[in-house]
Amino acid sequence: MPKLVLATSNAGKLAELQPLLAQAGFELVTQGELGVGDAIEDGRTFLENAIIKARHASEATGLPALGDDSGLVVDALGGAPGLYSARYAGRHGDSAANNARLLSEMEGLVGARRRAHFYCVLVLMRHANDPQPLVAEGVWPGLVLEAPRGDGGFGYDPVFFVPAHGVSAAELEPHLKNRISHRGLALARLRERLAEL
Ligand code: IMP
Repeated sequence: MPKLVLATSNAGKLAELQPLLAQAGFELVTQGELGVGDAIEDGRTFLENAIIKARHASEATGLPALGDDSGLVVDALGGAPGLYSARYAGRHGDSAANNARLLSEMEGLVGARRRAHFYCVLVLMRHANDPQPLVAEGVWPGLVLEAPRGDGGFGYDPVFFVPAHGVSAAELEPHLKNRISHRGLALARLRERLAEL
């Protein structure tokens, strides 16, 4: 089975992606396992950052690599938290503080002004100079709640309301979330693209 490097050290992402990519004929290893450090994510779009991550991992290992980037986009906030989703309140990965900042920035906004979507992009580069990476996107539309609900999931899940199911993303059963989420959709598209090859 050909090896594919996942441009992250995040074991959770590996667990999510591994079964899907195994079906597509790849053995997935994280860059962390191969001793590769994080790339500097200085792109100005999710896509640029996913390319930067994949290229960095491929360059360092000589293997094909998969980069990803994701975040929450709120139209009424000009796209924020966007690229800064993980550190919206300052400290990387402080979800409670990020959610508190989001709710405070959106205070007074009602109805359609609370619309938001999660976005995920996956980029597969066959080598560091691949001129035509495979790109797959996923968008998950919803609304920002006025207070957190539920204790599943991670990040912004407790403040993200999923109209189709009438619950927050933190109240969704994990399998269901993985199927309908931005990441789930991007993965499904990536598999389609791989199957076309
Ligand atoms: P990254 O793609 O791991 O860099 O994630 C960026 C940030 O976006 C995370 O730290 C979360 O704050 C947010 N995010 C991305 N996907 C989700 C999700 O499925 N639920 C909640 N928050 C998410």
